[in-house]
Amino acid sequence: MEYTGKKVLVLGLARSGAAAARLLQKLGAEVTVNDQKDLREDPLAAELQALGINVIGGGHPEGIVHPGLALVVKNPGIPYKAAPVRQALTLGIPVVTEVELAYEVAKAPVIGITGSNGKTTTTTLVGKMLEAADLHPVVAGNIGLALSEVAETVTADQWLVAELSSFQLMGTQAFRPKIGALLNLYSAHLDYHGTMEEYRDAKFRLFANQTEGDTAVLNWDQEEVRLAAQTTQARLVWFSTSEVLEEGVFVQDGHIHAILNGKNLPLLPVSEVGLAGVHNLQNVLAAAAICLAAGAPAEAVVEVARTFRGVEHRTEYVATKSGVDFYNDSKATNAAAATQAITAFPSVVLIAGGLDRGMDFHELVPVFEKHVKHVVAIGQAADRFLHVANLAGKTAEKTDSLEAAVRLAAERAEVGDTVLLSPACASWDMFGSFEERGSMFKKAVHTL
Ligand code: ADP
Repeated sequence: MEYTGKKVLVLGLARSGAAAARLLQKLGAEVTVNDQKDLREDPLAAELQALGINVIGGGHPEGIVHPGLALVVKNPGIPYKAAPVRQALTLGIPVVTEVELAYEVAKAPVIGITGSNGKTTTTTLVGKMLEAADLHPVVAGNIGLALSEVAETVTADQWLVAELSSFQLMGTQAFRPKIGALLNLYSAHLDYHGTMEEYRDAKFRLFANQTEGDTAVLNWDQEEVRLAAQTTQARLVWFSTSEVLEEGVFVQDGHIHAILNGKNLPLLPVSEVGLAGVHNLQNVLAAAAICLAAGAPAEAVVEVARTFRGVEHRTEYVATKSGVDFYNDSKATNAAAATQAITAFPSVVLIAGGLDRGMDFHELVPVFEKHVKHVVAIGQAADRFLHVANLAGKTAEKTDSLEAAVRLAAERAEVGDTVLLSPACASWDMFGSFEERGSMFKKAVHTL
């Protein structure tokens, strides 16, 4: 699209909205940014205004959406039922997320990575593997920089590695990654998407425009994900922890193998993978499949698979004290994510709980039965975890601070146990963010 002189509305002034606005203005568009929140004291708003961008906060005024608009770039968090979005769609104005905009501008081929869980870990692994292979990755999207912040500077000999949420993918049109990967599908985010089908279809948009020269990396172990194969014309590369594949990356007799274009590449023994848990093994297999498809040599893939010890707050190793390992999995804000972390260890003293969203967590009962020794519950949802522990026949107690929880957990743990913070809840009842919660956990562990 030619943007010179075109009127564009950016809805939502978060980091990605600001990046989109700056990029659009550089491309010659007349940009208006609009947000529901009051922007009078907002430094980002001031910065954009200094650039000559029109910024309107405190609501969506009458006429903000008008037939003269060429495009609306909406923040992924703004629902399609929001009034200005509906108005734009009624007027036939294209509504996209900044992923689409960045895609259009960027000269580098794109690797798009999505899934319910494991996106950041896999995207980070891919960045490191491509780095080790001298393939010049630029990692952006939901992780660190917004895509619009890097779109103009990436060059054709680089790879733009994008972590993508379903919300971002819903607002794409021509977006076509050279390599697209769908890690898994769990029933997260259903409050926004309504149904599992809608959620799945949003994820499948990743593959919608792919053609034969492109690659779709898919999880063989999940039936829902396998359906994606029917929606793409791309070459399929599967990954599996449980089945030997004809084409893809898989585990056989405790060893990771890749068979690509009929060529068999033995990679490394599972026991040498630097990350803990089957979920992380899946992430490593997916990252290996992506990077081999991108042309990385097996050595680069193996080196990173061995040495990478995890992204902060994602089943992150913290310390060993008196024979007990401490792991920080503060990012696990739902039961599916926590299950993955808990099952990575044989005997867990678990710290769980946080914001109460009305979930009953009954799905954790069998997980507790097998892997958990004792539960220290915190936060608004604490009683729910006491109840689940009770159903699983495990001891549990409640405390009102994370520091106290760490001390209690350390007391209850014996040599060989793992103390794991994997809360299965959002953090906002007690903390500003999951990062803050994880950092406090680590501090408390180090001061034990
Ligand atoms: P995302 O970016 O998708 O939120 P992360 O890599 O940040 O994913 O991991 C978040 C949490 O999800 C981790 O702490 C872990 O408990 C869980 N998790 C990570 N990878 C997977 C996976 N492949 N399958 C299921 N759960 C996972």
